[in-house]
Amino acid sequence: MSMPALRQPKKCPVEAKAPPAANSEKRKIAEPQNYLIVTLRSGKKLVVSSDSYHGILTAGELYRCVFCETEMVRDVICKERHKTSENHRKIVENYPHVEEFSENLIRKLNGADHYCTICNVVVTTYFLHKHIAAESHSKELQMALARALAYKPFN
Ligand SMILES: [Zn+2]
Ligand SMILES: [Zn+2]
Repeated sequence: MSMPALRQPKKCPVEAKAPPAANSEKRKIAEPQNYLIVTLRSGKKLVVSSDSYHGILTAGELYRCVFCETEMVRDVICKERHKTSENHRKIVENYPHVEEFSENLIRKLNGADHYCTICNVVVTTYFLHKHIAAESHSKELQMALARALAYKPFN
């Protein structure tokens, strides 16, 4: 299977916004981290970060979407726009969480890679079972389950 050629990171038009205000007021660079609930067929609930769910990895100065295999400048607006884009949503639908791995929230990618939604990492098939058994993964998994217990619906 051939690897897709590396593409140039997409320049987000939002990048071309005005330079920081002349009064040099420091802009807060807080990256909002939204969470969302994943409900399994068994009824089990997990709360994972929106970026994890959408396969957005941080790679230096870039964000990378593991499903669309696209990179974009590290700009929160750019990233949020990507996550809500119809193209991305459609592509993500093609990578459902594999039933067999249940609450471990593993998505099968193209080729020999899997994506762990719990940890927000790409894992090769060879290491997948090792990854799931690893302490770091089970810690993340416990946190995702605990967040769901703490989550209170609004109604
Ligand atoms: Zn995407
Ligand atoms: Zn994991």
